[in-house]
Parts: sequence; C-alpha cells; structure tokens
Amino acid sequence: MAHAATSSPISSALSHARSENGYTEIDWDKLGFGLTPTDYMYVMKCSRDEEFTEGQLIPYGNIELSPAACVLNYGQGLFEGLKAMRRENGKLVLFRADQNALRMRIGAERVCMPSPSVDQFIDAVKQTALANKRWIPPPGKGSLYLRPLLLGTGAVLGVAPAPEYTFLIYASPVRNYFKEGNAALNLYVEDQFDRASRGGAGGVKSITNYAPGLKPLERAKKNGYSDVLYLDSESGKYIEEVSTCNIFVVKDSIISTPPTKGTILPGVTRKSIVEIALENGFKVEERQIAVEELLEADEAFCTGTAVVMVPVGSVTYKGKRVDYQATNANSMCKRLMSLYSGIQNGLIEDKKGWIIEIN
Ligand SMILES: *Cc1c(COP(=O)(O)O)cnc(C)c1O
Repeated sequence: MAHAATSSPISSALSHARSENGYTEIDWDKLGFGLTPTDYMYVMKCSRDEEFTEGQLIPYGNIELSPAACVLNYGQGLFEGLKAMRRENGKLVLFRADQNALRMRIGAERVCMPSPSVDQFIDAVKQTALANKRWIPPPGKGSLYLRPLLLGTGAVLGVAPAPEYTFLIYASPVRNYFKEGNAALNLYVEDQFDRASRGGAGGVKSITNYAPGLKPLERAKKNGYSDVLYLDSESGKYIEEVSTCNIFVVKDSIISTPPTKGTILPGVTRKSIVEIALENGFKVEERQIAVEELLEADEAFCTGTAVVMVPVGSVTYKGKRVDYQATNANSMCKRLMSLYSGIQNGLIEDKKGWIIEIN
C-alpha cells in the first residue's frame, strides 16, 4: 500500500496555517460530520497466519490496492469509530477505546481476519490522535473522529480470506452528525428493507452492513425523515436500531432498549448509557420492544459515538405519525446526556476508568 505521491496530503496540511495556540486555522463553527482530511494516518500490516506486530504513521493520503483485494471483491472489512476530545484544561482524552478494540476483535473473528491486540489498537489510536493534534477542535466545538479500519487487502479470486491484512486509522474533525444538530429526529420505521438477519453480521461493524442501507436511507431522507428505524427481520414486529445508532424507549420512567443478540450493533454509547442509568437509580430493561410500544412511549432517543445522544421527535410507521415531547428540559435523554457528557468533559469524576488521557 503506497502513499500516492501526487495526491494532496502534504499540500492540504500546509494550506491550513497553524494559529498561535496550536490549532489549525479553520472555522470550527462550520464543522459538520463531513470528511476534513488531516495530516497523518496509521498503517499496520500482517499476513493471514501472522499477528500484527508494528505499525507506523504516514502522511494522510490515498492507498494502493490490488483490484483483486478481498475487501473490494467480497467485502472483507470492518470499521470502528471513536473520538478524541479536548477538555477545557487542555487535556486530550479518549472514551472507552478498549471497547472499540474488543469489538473489532470479535468482528475480525466473524469475518476471518487477524486483528490487533487491545493494546496495539489503543496505542495506534493514541498515536493517530496526537499526530493530528492540531485538528482536535477547541472544547465545545466538536471532536476528532478516529476511524480505524481492518481490511483484507491481499488478492484473492475465489471466495476465501485474504492472504494479507491492513489495519489503518485516519482522523477527521467533526461536530454534529445530523443536519438537525441536537434537535429531535424524525424516524421512518422501515417495513420493507431489513438491516440484519439471524446468523448474519449485523452484530459486528462489518462494512458489508452499510451499503444495503443506503437505498432505504436515501428514500427516507427524500421524504423528509432524518433516518430509518429498522425492525427485526424474522417477525417485522420489534424495533432494532437506526442506520448508525442504537435506540432507547422511555415509558413511565422505565428505560428500555432492544437486546443485542446478533442483529443489533452493540454500541459502546448504548452500553455506557445503560450503566450510567442503572448507577443513577433508573430502571433499565433490555428486551424486545414492539413498534406499538414505541408509538405509545413517553420518549425515545438514539445513541452512538458519531450521533452522541439525540432525542426522537417523531416516528412514522405505516403512514401513521406519532410526535413526542422531545424538548422537555427534564427528559430522560437530557438527564442521561448530561451525566454522559459530564464524564467525557471531566465535570463528573470518572470512577470507572472510561477516560484515557493521551497527552
Ligand atoms: C457504530 C454503530 C452504532 C453505535 O455504536 P457506538 O459504539 O455507540 O458508536 C450503532 N448502530 C450501528 C449500526 C453502528 O454501526
């Protein structure tokens, strides 16, 4: 995998002057969730019967692949997503990066790839964040999204695991995922297309799970919805998750979320919210939730690293739209969000070792 000499990583790095305080000179207030190329990426390779040993930082840029690379032909690839945040006191932190590392290991086992150890993963994430430090937004202006990839980059012709693998991490400063910002989402309950099925790869962050979701997502957006809410593929009765985030339902102050049993991506944010809610004395149930129950809920919200926590403003199912009181300052979403972001920004003590300082 060679770095393309003609592409623009160096020039793009130079085109942004460094300001006095060490930040890149960009308009942080205009940041959304698009790709802003940064200075460096991390690359580490190994062959099928080896383990990953050592990687390196190289300038961000295009990579070279065989046309027969397994990832291109058969989708042998996983991704992860986590954020480096800048606190008011200047500390740079990661949140539960070990959980992303473990999830990548589970996914790698499912799609027959060797994977970095938890320590290798965390070390690589730290190195990538630090090398692109000037792109970590000021406190309150967003974060540096880190995107680890594990790809079967070796060439194959028949369907088989690749002979060679590449672990890569790139980074981009980001802010709000949805154009709605933190405003409530209008979800379309998808009753034609499924995201995942029993025995499939819905429970791991396999790249193969996302292209089939583009059509339902495009259609929903064209019709004015923010995103799609998928149902279980077996009965079509129970809610599963949204394109890139998990869902919670609140009724009579009881918080519920569907169990992650292979068809739902086990979100690190989801898991953290469940733990925070339980510790703060709320009742949490992980169980199947029928669409009708969602329609009768007091409140619903979505969680994910990219989206963080966003309230659901409305749900449309088979032509029927239900609206929620999503702007209530005392909502469960807002209360849990302040506990969650408090741990991340340091206002609440991290008693669980979730925060990893990187500088
Ligand atoms: C990544 C992802 C999530 C959220 O997981 P986090 O670890 O909280 O970021 C939820 N659902 C899907 C389909 C995802 O790809």
